[in-house]
Amino acid sequence: MTPGVRPLIAGNWKMHGSLSEARALAGAVAEGKVQGAELLVCPPFPYLLPVQGALAGSTVALGAQDCHAAAKGAHTGDISAPMLKDCGAGFVILGHSERRADHGEDDAAVRAKAEAVLAEGLVPVVCVGESEAQRLSGEAEAVVAGQLAGSLPEGFAQAHGVVAYEPVWAIGTGRTPTEDDIAAMHARIRAELAARFGAAGGTLRILYGGSVKPGNAKAILALPHVDGALVGGASLVAADFLAIASAV
Ligand code: PEP
Repeated sequence: MTPGVRPLIAGNWKMHGSLSEARALAGAVAEGKVQGAELLVCPPFPYLLPVQGALAGSTVALGAQDCHAAAKGAHTGDISAPMLKDCGAGFVILGHSERRADHGEDDAAVRAKAEAVLAEGLVPVVCVGESEAQRLSGEAEAVVAGQLAGSLPEGFAQAHGVVAYEPVWAIGTGRTPTEDDIAAMHARIRAELAARFGAAGGTLRILYGGSVKPGNAKAILALPHVDGALVGGASLVAADFLAIASAV
C-alpha cells in the first residue's frame, strides 16, 4: 500500500451474468459497507443503468469495461465515453489483456481511448501486463514500462488515473506471481509514473490483478505500491469480493 492513498478494489464482471444477477450482485456489494477501501463495480454495458439503480445511496462506484476513442459517430456496436458518463460511470477500464487479444487493441488505441475518457472527466483504469513468455524471458518489466509509455496520455495524473498491473498468465488461471515479483513490478511502475508525471505520479493508484481471491488478498494488498486490486472471477460472488475488500 502507498501511504496516504485510499485503496481501490475494482470488480470486472466481464461478459458474465444476467440482468437479475447483476442487480442482485450490485445490491449485495452495496450492502457490504466496507470501510477501508473504495469499491468499484464494472458490469457489462447493458447493465450499467440497472446497476446504477442498485447502487443508489451507497458509496460503491460504477465503471465500464471499455469505450470508443471517439465521442460520437458512425461506429456500429461501440459505446462512447459521453454515453458511459450519461449512465453514471465514473471509471472506465481500458486495455484489458482480453481486449488487447480479442480486439487487437495496441498501446496507441488504448491511449486514444484514455484521452476520450479524460475528456469526459472520467477516470481511466489502464491495464498493463506481460505474457508468460515475456516473464520467462526476463522481459516483464521492460514490456510493462513500454505499455505505460504508450498507453498513458498526458493529463492522466491530474485526472487521478489508475494503473492495473495484470500479468496475462495470471488472469483467470488461479496462478499469481510471487510476492517478490509483484512488489518488484509495482515498484517499477511507481518509478515510471514518477519519472513521467513527477510528484503526482507518486500517489496514483496501482492495482494488482490476476487471480486475486479472499485467500491471497491480504498478502498481496500488504505489498508496497499495491494500492488495491482489479478482480475478475471473485468479483462475481459478493461475499468473496467483500472479503477481498475487507483484507485491505
Ligand atoms: C481480470 O480479468 O481483470 C482479472 C483479474 O481476472 P481474475 O481475477 O479472474 O484473474
